[in-house]
Amino acid sequence: MSNESYDLIVIGAGPAGAAAAIAGARGGASVLVFDKAPYGRDKVCGDGLTPRAVGALNELKIDLEDAHRIDGLRMIAGKKTRELAWPRTARFPAHGAVWPRRRLDAALIDAATEAGAEVIWETEALPIIDGDRVTGVTAGGRDHRADMVVVAAGAPGQVARMLGADRDKDEPFGIAIRTYAETPRHADRHLEACLTLSDEHGTAVPGYGWMFPAGDGTVNIGVGALSTMKNFKKLNLNNLLASYRSLVEPTWNIGPNLERPRAWRLPMSTQKRHGSGWVAIGDAAGLVNPMNGEGIDYGLESGMLAAELFLQDPATAPARYDTQIGLRFDSFLRTGRRFSFLIGHPLILRTGLRLAVGTDAIATITLGVMGNLVDSDTPGAAGKVLTIADKALAVADPVLRRTRAAS
Ligand SMILES: Cc1cc2nc3c(=O)[nH]c(=O)nc-3n(C[C@H](O)[C@H](O)[C@H](O)COP(=O)(O)OP(=O)(O)OC[C@H]3O[C@@H](n4cnc5c(N)ncnc54)[C@H](O)[C@@H]3O)c2cc1C
Repeated sequence: MSNESYDLIVIGAGPAGAAAAIAGARGGASVLVFDKAPYGRDKVCGDGLTPRAVGALNELKIDLEDAHRIDGLRMIAGKKTRELAWPRTARFPAHGAVWPRRRLDAALIDAATEAGAEVIWETEALPIIDGDRVTGVTAGGRDHRADMVVVAAGAPGQVARMLGADRDKDEPFGIAIRTYAETPRHADRHLEACLTLSDEHGTAVPGYGWMFPAGDGTVNIGVGALSTMKNFKKLNLNNLLASYRSLVEPTWNIGPNLERPRAWRLPMSTQKRHGSGWVAIGDAAGLVNPMNGEGIDYGLESGMLAAELFLQDPATAPARYDTQIGLRFDSFLRTGRRFSFLIGHPLILRTGLRLAVGTDAIATITLGVMGNLVDSDTPGAAGKVLTIADKALAVADPVLRRTRAAS
């Protein structure tokens, strides 16, 4: 038993945990981070960063020189292709990036160490729960005390179960699989998303296949699906990826898979994201955008917010974090989850897709809405569409859930 005591202890050194550690340590807090993986670990991911995520990295003063710059999105629906620039807003930069997670996550945690955070690798940490309060963590056979524990442990596992912070079973979630391949088009400056995926039985899959060029000779190739689809439990992601691969092979001229395709979960809800002495951030708080599967930005933003509120007042930080993160994201993410029930219906999905990519103007609005790139000061067309969608989906929600994937 040790008497070591810190202001903040962070469980998990992914983007969310690193962002909390950077902001906390730069603000003068003593910060200890644990990760059960070794330094330089990879994370199964598409490696795509929207302008919103680049904005968050800029806020953290992370140098993006090592990342591959991305100017927009190529949307493919059936035979229709639309190449769009990122929407211009006053709030977010006009470019995104692809940054393989091994390197992105190392850059982030290096910045945390530089700011003064202590990081302990290959050590699992579990919360110490004293009555209804989290007082620290047990890790490496020792107890470590903290004024606040930041749970940044990714998709819910043991830590979430201990804290009652598992996902809400009535809400949707996603799964996705990815690998890398060499391609002559590795320096392409657009993310590519194919929105018309079907499984081997011809059922339309709510989700998309992606080609995210990394600028280093390779492309990240993957597919993701939402749990709202019919026969979701029987969906074979390896087969879905293989069929998507054969679809893109001629246009991307890709080589063999550079590693075995690996799949992981995308949590999109949580039963709880704070309590006395603790907060959950990033995937551990279910903060993944159901409309595009993006989670890096939400991890960075929630990590920064948790640390800033702690620096202002440790005692009230967990409750204020819950309120403020809710104000920032809850309505958007709720709309996204409702949307995922909507597109779980194959007919609605097909019709909606035809509409969404129908013209450049509509496709640009789709991109703004799905990427959460709406500037609340000047909401523009995407902002208005989001408000209308929010209201319409709220009305339709009970029916959509009742008829879930039944059509
Ligand atoms: C296939 C796929 C593709 C995706 N593509 C994209 C994309 O292109 N863009 C995007 O923005 N998002 C994407 N996402 C989502 C994104 O990967 C996650 O949202 C993001 O990694 C969340 O970051 P995090 O820091 O919350 O968690 P993680 O990155 O999962 O980090 C959690 C860390 O906690 C550690 N840990 C867990 N438990 C413990 C413990 N008890 N003690 C110590 N350490 C622990 C783990 O080792 C890990 O390092 C994708 C997800 C998948 C599955």
